[in-house]
Amino acid sequence: MRILAASDFHEKKPVYLKKIIKIYKPDIIVSSGDFCQGDWFIRPKGKKNAHFKKAAIKTKSTLKYLDSFNIPIYIVLGNHDVSKTHYDFSTYSKHLDINKFIKTLKNVKIIHNKKIKLGQFTLVGYNYIFREKRSPDYKKNLTALMKKQKNTILFTHDVPYGCKLDIIRNKKSPYNGKHVGDKYLLWAIKKYSPILNICGHMHENQGKCKIGKTLVVNPGFGQNGEAAIIDLPKLKIKFIKL
Ligand SMILES: [Zn+2]
Repeated sequence: MRILAASDFHEKKPVYLKKIIKIYKPDIIVSSGDFCQGDWFIRPKGKKNAHFKKAAIKTKSTLKYLDSFNIPIYIVLGNHDVSKTHYDFSTYSKHLDINKFIKTLKNVKIIHNKKIKLGQFTLVGYNYIFREKRSPDYKKNLTALMKKQKNTILFTHDVPYGCKLDIIRNKKSPYNGKHVGDKYLLWAIKKYSPILNICGHMHENQGKCKIGKTLVVNPGFGQNGEAAIIDLPKLKIKFIKL
């Protein structure tokens, strides 16, 4: 099975994928979130409504474009897609309810708190959950999804804590050089050893790393034309950077 992984488009239509699909002919596409941008820190005075209206149009256009490839596309949502607590979601949601919108599409499916069979593999998906909202349920849900599964592919927006893919690489950031990944994901990976964790979120860290038996893959920053081709069961990874 060949997977095309690409995420973090942040409202930019990923036209670069068309060529990649033509060359590599993936069986499925997985996209780990951040279709929206939202820009909760950019609030042009008096233009908020127009700003969010435009943001919603761009996000819908990205999702429709992905749907048009006529290949099964599995997604989870990122922090920019679920930011109810972080920006003026009441204004934004007037223009876009992303869960509702995805239901109108043919090929794009959200895999949140769910598992689906893909031949001999099980895809277990979970949306981004803000740190302050990571209740014991999150751990309980991951446990329920992953136990007794073989050949699991854990599919998340966030990255597990502690491997090189969760290091902030931005000299202007006070967190430069620090690990900022998710400790719950690290726990789940160590406990259940999925064969693969496909994540996203850390735009600067296209790449792979190993946690125990699990290969963690970040396909990179989709807004800049990055992606990954994953061949199973061999776990051969090709990173693409346009
Ligand atoms: Zn992102």
